[in-house]
Amino acid sequence: MENASNAYAPGDDSPTASGGSYAAPKPSQDPDAGRRAFRQALIDARVLYPSAVDGIYGRSGLFENIAEGLNAAISKLGADQHAEVMRFPPAMPRKDFEASEYLKSFPQLAGTVHCFCGGDREHHRLLARLEQGEDWADQQRPTDVVLAPAACYPVYPVVAARGPMPGEGMVVDVLTYCFRHEPSIDPARMQMFRQREYVRLGTAEQIVAFRQTWIERGRQLAGMLELPHEVDLANDPFFGRGGKIVADSQRELKLKFELLVPINDGAPPTACMSFNYHMDHFAHAWPLRTADGAPAHTGCVGFGIERLTLALLRHHGFELAKWPRRVRDALGGL
Ligand code: ATP
Ligand code: ZN
Repeated sequence: MENASNAYAPGDDSPTASGGSYAAPKPSQDPDAGRRAFRQALIDARVLYPSAVDGIYGRSGLFENIAEGLNAAISKLGADQHAEVMRFPPAMPRKDFEASEYLKSFPQLAGTVHCFCGGDREHHRLLARLEQGEDWADQQRPTDVVLAPAACYPVYPVVAARGPMPGEGMVVDVLTYCFRHEPSIDPARMQMFRQREYVRLGTAEQIVAFRQTWIERGRQLAGMLELPHEVDLANDPFFGRGGKIVADSQRELKLKFELLVPINDGAPPTACMSFNYHMDHFAHAWPLRTADGAPAHTGCVGFGIERLTLALLRHHGFELAKWPRRVRDALGGL
């Protein structure tokens, strides 16, 4: 762990807000005890508003102020990238989603949008089922829309439709809510959460250099925010029997690094940023081409806005006034 001066010391820097003190569980307890305790502290202090579904929360003003500060800090860090800003809704066309091959790797995480498409007869049946407390959702029909699984996915078809890129390639700045069906009591594993990303498109050399720059900048940001952290190779939960082979190859090719911060007591540290190299994967889904007509390579750096916000709350407490001045300044003077 870097930044050891700001050691993760449950007990002495525990958030205390609205009278609800946060009693960190003992290290020997199972990791879910730490996750539950932190989630309960966030709910008690009204930092997060719970719902009937794990992983779907409302955010308080405090939470959103920190999230905005993070976005401002990330914009500052990336000012020299001259990125084209694109903002998409948290949904994308189903046909683009199919082309991305997300369903090959993570069918368990995807969320599709379904709607009622019937007439009067089906409507009556729907209402009758609802009244009887019966399941009604099987009547819903898939639409042309799926929820965005990652912020960068809607970018590729847009850039591909423009034709070959300029010689220097492109950098795009995106921010959107993403959906992943991974209900959990871990407050840092939500079903809808924001990813801020810089997406790099161009040659293999350009992407590899970009990723190296951003690994350094990611460390720099975590340092400015006084968060203990480490950077490591990532292991994604690829689905099914073939999944292990894909995961091994991802590690072998060093395609994905993560910046991890301890958030939940007694649990492994949490990935708060990721640094990805997709090789030319997306150029097979869409005609992404470099200036000389070759399939473009892509990569992205993703900042988990919710996880970074939670990490800050965990390490600096629930009262902004008590946060280190330097951290508040780094967040634009919160
Ligand atoms: P994990 O391995 O923890 O599931 P991931 O590797 O799938 O995360 P990425 O696909 O790299 O995550 O997404 C980029 C960033 O988005 C992550 O570094 C993290 O900060 C954030 N993120 C991913 N999944 C979630 C989630 N369920 N809840 C909150 N933030 C998330
Ligand atoms: Zn991405």
